[in-house]
Amino acid sequence: SKSVSLEEAAGFLLRHQRILVLAHQKPDGDALGSVLGMRSFLRNLGKQADALFPSPLPERYRSFAGPVLTALSRQEAERNYDLIVLLDCANAERIACGPALDADFLRSRNLLNIDHHVGNNVGAPYNYIDSTASAASEIAVELAQATGKAIPVEAATLWYLGILTDTGSFRFTNTTGKTLRLAADLLDAGADSERVVNAVYFSKPRRQQQFEAELLQSCVKTALDGRYAYASIPPELFAKYDFDMRDGEGLIDLLREIDGTVVAALIYRKNDSYKVSMRSKLREFPVGPIARSLGGGGHDMAAGITLALPDAAAVEAVLLDKVTGLLRPVPEP
Ligand code: 5GP
Ligand code: MN
Ligand code: MN
Repeated sequence: SKSVSLEEAAGFLLRHQRILVLAHQKPDGDALGSVLGMRSFLRNLGKQADALFPSPLPERYRSFAGPVLTALSRQEAERNYDLIVLLDCANAERIACGPALDADFLRSRNLLNIDHHVGNNVGAPYNYIDSTASAASEIAVELAQATGKAIPVEAATLWYLGILTDTGSFRFTNTTGKTLRLAADLLDAGADSERVVNAVYFSKPRRQQQFEAELLQSCVKTALDGRYAYASIPPELFAKYDFDMRDGEGLIDLLREIDGTVVAALIYRKNDSYKVSMRSKLREFPVGPIARSLGGGGHDMAAGITLALPDAAAVEAVLLDKVTGLLRPVPEP
């Protein structure tokens, strides 16, 4: 496992001809945008490039995908590709490779790991990790520029989608001057921001809006003088509004947007565990360390955990304890 430079990573893309691109499970806008943008960029160079998404894509992104691979056997992975590019995936266990493949297999192949998460543990043969990048899509733009090849309109649109969603439309603190300059480059390359914005932000199904209304009305709790807002989603609510957390990207922002909130947490049951999403609004109070201390991960300001606890109340108690520690006023010296 070794780190490569941006130029070396760009060289990999140029040298290989048959390339598989994939990301993390439960794809968000950046996972999807970075992968599909890379597929478009590579195809535009005359290469064979395929994207693998083993589970259904969030509704709001479906129109951007076109046909994708939903399963791949070992034999196909070995025979059909001379390079595998993994984007936006920090954890070996969370690679969206489907049941036939796993991290050990992928590491045994020609695997290039491109990511922006702190503490990326994929350990690929070749790694390019830049935790100052707002999105894997931002790194993808830099990579494309490092090849000296043109960015096709479709790739520009998809990478714009990835950057827009991972920065919360340039609102989150991961937005840097470079982020904006690269996003500007994408608009100059023809990125269709109208299409992206309409699909991602102005296409909420009515039933989802009603789900959110009930969540806000009935489930939100605040603590620590309103500086901590959290909600456990009752399982019945999903059924009542036919809502799936696959489409829940951004849901936690309903808590973050409350005045006075510093830390927000969203809790929901997934299989036999509880899944927690956490966000911080102030760099002074990062939630990444809380997530890592509980076996989760992510970024300082946006992190997540999977907890095997008996009920939501137990999860709430563990989190309240951690957040109390985080937000406790520092005693004057
Ligand atoms: P989200 O809250 O949007 O699901 O995830 C926010 C960030 O936390 C992402 O960067 C993601 O990689 C990380 N994350 C979310 N859930 C988990 C988890 O269960 N385990 C780990 N290690 N990281 C997570
Ligand atoms: Mn992601
Ligand atoms: Mn990302």
